[in-house]
Amino acid sequence: MSTSRRVFIFGSTGSIGKKALEVIDNFHEDIEVFGISAYSRIDCLVAQAIKYRVKVVIVPSTQSKELFYEKWTSDNPIPKLLVGSQSLVDIAYDNSYDTVIAAIVGIAGLPSALAAARAGKRILLANKEVLVVAGDLFMQYVSYYKAELIPIDSEHSAIFQCLYGNANSINFKKIENNVRRILLTASGGPFLEYSTDSLQDITPAKACLHPKWSMGRKISVDSSTMMNKGFEVIETYWLFNIPIRKIEVLVHPQSIIHSMVEYIDGSVIAQLSKPDMGIPISYALGFPERTKNEVGFIDFKDLMKLEFYQPDFVKFPCLSLAFDALKLGQAHCIVLNAANEVAVEAFLNDSIKYTSIPKIIEESINWYEKKTPYLLNNLDDILHLDMVSRSFAYKNLSSIMK
Ligand code: NAD
Ligand code: MG
Repeated sequence: MSTSRRVFIFGSTGSIGKKALEVIDNFHEDIEVFGISAYSRIDCLVAQAIKYRVKVVIVPSTQSKELFYEKWTSDNPIPKLLVGSQSLVDIAYDNSYDTVIAAIVGIAGLPSALAAARAGKRILLANKEVLVVAGDLFMQYVSYYKAELIPIDSEHSAIFQCLYGNANSINFKKIENNVRRILLTASGGPFLEYSTDSLQDITPAKACLHPKWSMGRKISVDSSTMMNKGFEVIETYWLFNIPIRKIEVLVHPQSIIHSMVEYIDGSVIAQLSKPDMGIPISYALGFPERTKNEVGFIDFKDLMKLEFYQPDFVKFPCLSLAFDALKLGQAHCIVLNAANEVAVEAFLNDSIKYTSIPKIIEESINWYEKKTPYLLNNLDDILHLDMVSRSFAYKNLSSIMK
């Protein structure tokens, strides 16, 4: 077997990380898993390290390192164990592998994703918060250090597939003149049919039950509030270098069309498939080749209908908050993300009501509006504003706890 690619998965125990391992295992004989990392679920991490015979594992603390040794049952040589978030940054510069799957959730994945870009790796990006909080810097690094960026988010994989072939390369710097609109589709989440009043009583369990996708808890809540779609608008803006006015969200409950590109000649190119992350992950892993996977095929005779609606910005204020933040600039996007991370965590811990999530975010944006604008020149500036915004959101939170 000839090995043509070696990957490091940042966040291998999550929904995307596990799916990526499954796809590699079943369909990518040519890909070797060089390293994996996780923040929790050390049992799962040990099992993955044994199964894929990885060379390097990154754990968050010395306790988790000890736990890893304790749980190691195999006769295989134990991998090199590194500890802490700085190890994720350092390993990005290791030349023993060429591809990073960025599958950490939240801003925690930012330093390692930026490092991977500086190291000129091929980056298969799931961690959309990287583009939300640092789109400008990240894209500058990708371009300057000649990294290759392939999205894993299903909508962005769809847009990538609709653009690739109509652009000169995967550098989409010049598409603006040919593209009239990017139509970013949204399933609408589990509460599409709910009245605004009934959102008051949503529990974490209900919010995590997505009708079409099975995902990690944070992104499931983000999908239900449509903040996920808001983040994806920001992600589209940075990935494809397209003006905000050319990005439109379209609710499409069947989740068969994963997004579309409308060109100036009136042609619309769409990507369709069953709603399963196996497809965007396998596309990103194999790019530019297409590879088989186990998702299966659409039976067009079974498709009863494909519907499209305008999103309800009143019922889902998070979507407007994200559009507004993108228009206001990078600092507002950092505040948006920080407040959202704090509010979603509090909701998942049952400390605040579902309907408090957009309120906390809006108050955080209003708070930032009154401040002297922050200068954002580098990672430290971004992390500093993130920290200050989180403290504000936490303080604010304590006054409305259930
Ligand atoms: P998840 O919660 O299932 O997994 C997150 C992974 O990151 C885990 O391995 C966890 O150990 C690790 N992690 C968490 N906190 C960390 C920290 N502080 N430091 C280091 N590692 C940490 O999340 P997921 O659903 O797999 O989503 C991962 C990313 O992909 C998110 O940004 C999400 O928005 C994006 N995404 C997910 C899906 C999906 O279907 N799940 C689809 C598109 C995009
Ligand atoms: Mg998506």
